[in-house]
Amino acid sequence: DAKRSGGRQVVLSHPDQLQAAVDRSAMDRRVRAAAADDDFELVYQPLVDMRDGRVVSAEALLRWPGSGVTPTDFVPRLEESGLIIGVGSQVLVRAVEQAARWWAEGRSTGISVNLSSIQLGDAELVERVRTVLADTGLPPERLTLEVTEGLLLRDLDAAVDLLAQLRRTGVHVALDDFGTGYSSLAYLHRLPIDVLKVDQTFVRAAVTSERDQVVLRAIVALGRDLGLTVVAEGVQETSQVELLLSLGCTVAQGFLLASPTRPEDVPVSVELPRLLDLTGSDVAELAG
Ligand code: C2E
Ligand code: MG
Ligand code: MG
Ligand code: MG
Repeated sequence: DAKRSGGRQVVLSHPDQLQAAVDRSAMDRRVRAAAADDDFELVYQPLVDMRDGRVVSAEALLRWPGSGVTPTDFVPRLEESGLIIGVGSQVLVRAVEQAARWWAEGRSTGISVNLSSIQLGDAELVERVRTVLADTGLPPERLTLEVTEGLLLRDLDAAVDLLAQLRRTGVHVALDDFGTGYSSLAYLHRLPIDVLKVDQTFVRAAVTSERDQVVLRAIVALGRDLGLTVVAEGVQETSQVELLLSLGCTVAQGFLLASPTRPEDVPVSVELPRLLDLTGSDVAELAG
């Protein structure tokens, strides 16, 4: 019995816990092998200006083809093992190379790259960013680095310093999944960021409930008043597009507008859904 064996052994008394631990280490082995074999791929999801359909940027998103495992499951494994440093560096390089190709083609599409909190602790991070920009010649402002609130709050001064260093390379910084983490209005204004990505839960809820709409309206106003570009995540319905535009949020991402695709399939602009209540000039006016 594990409990009796003492020492530093992990105590696994319940069969479910044991099974979970076995599954986990099997998954860890698969993830490690996938990282070593470079089995991960990137797809790109457009960020769309809802006033004219222009694709302003594309977010690079990891996929593990043939594995049946989604990023929500394998990214945490990559983080726990530290493998995210290597995989994430590859993501940065490949995504920026893709953006440089678009740039060379005369397109205006920028690139958004997710950074794990673990990568923020990588002493080489700023240098990696500088290097890939120098190697590809991509204008820095075409790259947006997406960070989540997670670890930022643990050491706010260090986070502010790092984000400021990143921004000094000329890239933009986005706060991802805003509202789901330890969102504190007390620190938001201190973070040197350019973009606020409002989590899909707020976008979703706002079209069904007046009270939730009040919350979304406040978040959009807060972001705009702080001088940030506000991006809505997870737009799946036309009513959400209408609401967001009426609140002054002009950029969004979501399956209604465009799904993640291979880089060669990322369009320059997308066809917008027919808006039910608004005319073109209304849109221009409302979104100001
Ligand atoms: P995220 O950065 O918030 O990325 C947006 C996620 O929302 C993506 O999920 C995207 O496919 C999904 N999404 C987009 N539009 C819609 C919609 O209309 N409805 C719904 N339900 N979902 C939508 P995905 O690709 O599964 O990635 C999940 C998370 O995994 C990402 O969330 C990010 O936190 C992480 N991730 C993905 N790729 C990377 C990466 O290269 N590096 C790091 N560190 N994390 C990554
Ligand atoms: Mg993201
Ligand atoms: Mg997000
Ligand atoms: Mg999200």
